[in-house]
Amino acid sequence: MEIVLIGTVVVLALAVIGALVVRRRRPRTGTTPPIVSDRDGRRADGPEARTEVGGSATVATPSTSPSATSPSTGLGSKIRRLLGSAPTEDEWHGLEQALVRADVGPRAASDLVARVKERFDSESDPVGLVREEIVGLLGESTGLILPGDRLAIVIVVGVNGAGKSTTIGKLAAKLRGEGKQVMLANSDTFRAAAGEQLGIWADRAGVALVAQERGADPGSVAFDAVTSAAAKGSDVLIIDTAGRLHTKIPLMDELKKVRRVAEKAAAQTGAGIDETLLVLDAQTGQNGIAQARAFTEAADVTGVVLTKMDGSARGGIALAVREELGVPVKLVGMGESIGDLETFDPRSFADGLLGSGV
Ligand code: GDP
Ligand code: GDP
Ligand code: MG
Repeated sequence: MEIVLIGTVVVLALAVIGALVVRRRRPRTGTTPPIVSDRDGRRADGPEARTEVGGSATVATPSTSPSATSPSTGLGSKIRRLLGSAPTEDEWHGLEQALVRADVGPRAASDLVARVKERFDSESDPVGLVREEIVGLLGESTGLILPGDRLAIVIVVGVNGAGKSTTIGKLAAKLRGEGKQVMLANSDTFRAAAGEQLGIWADRAGVALVAQERGADPGSVAFDAVTSAAAKGSDVLIIDTAGRLHTKIPLMDELKKVRRVAEKAAAQTGAGIDETLLVLDAQTGQNGIAQARAFTEAADVTGVVLTKMDGSARGGIALAVREELGVPVKLVGMGESIGDLETFDPRSFADGLLGSGV
């Protein structure tokens, strides 16, 4: 009897601790800024209310941080241990290596160290300086920039399994929540289950889907979808594409064709392609840079969506993409559920990367 009682108490205690940990690891979207800005870089808070992107507006957002790191293992504490009041060359080199290990990329790492070194004196807080330079390098976050007065088109590209279809489902739900009429197009006619999967996301988000049979020409789907979305007066069309290895030239050519055909249909209907989002798995590490480079060359990428930031990913790749390719991270995937998409926030991202030793 006693054993049962003690067992129950232990299970309950574990459940409470578990719930608290989950809450900490997955900050919620309640305070997240809206996904869309208008062309002037202002956030669109639904059809009427619009707010400026203020320096302070995004500071409080407790989102987009890579998963929590403990004070003793976080990059921040590592930096504190490394840099005393007068760091040697070896110690500066150690900082660079620590940044590279966090997926920041060699170029961004060396750039960050140079900037921090220049500003450093014996009174400096090294972690604070690194944090400021990370935020500076990432620049202000704009979210998506979509016009409000015509059909906006978003093309989503990336390698297989990066999270394209999932991101599209989440994005559709967000946009719909902001009062927009949204349509999805399945230009991934290659994978058998792709249409079905996107159909499930369309249902969940409560939006329409344009699809054709498996094996159909992806360009043809894109053409139909743009024409149909324009005829229905939709606000946003999001086009899913087949996941492709960035090293396969015919597939990259197919991607160019989808874009070309969508552009042609857009020109005929007074629409435009406003965003081409590259979906990158945050766990990809430096290979993500090679992917990003190839897709940027083939598809004119306007922004990156960094997915699976709820996992063990360090997310330093965000800095590498920004520094190497000049492409901003716009959105962040924080899980597999429909609400798990957030606007990228450089400040909370820097806090997450540096860990709680900030
Ligand atoms: P696609 O091939 O690029 O379209 O990728 P999918 O959207 O089919 O996603 C591949 C897998 O990644 C699925 O199991 C998704 O549930 C998962 N996934 C996508 N985004 C996230 C995310 O932000 N966090 C986590 N944990 N899983 C994700
Ligand atoms: P392809 O290179 O000969 O396949 O032709 P395109 O690259 O121009 O277009 C690819 C697909 O998009 C075509 O097979 C059509 O289904 C569709 N498409 C392109 N242009 C048009 C058009 O003007 N009207 C219609 N209805 N469909 C078009
Ligand atoms: Mg997919």
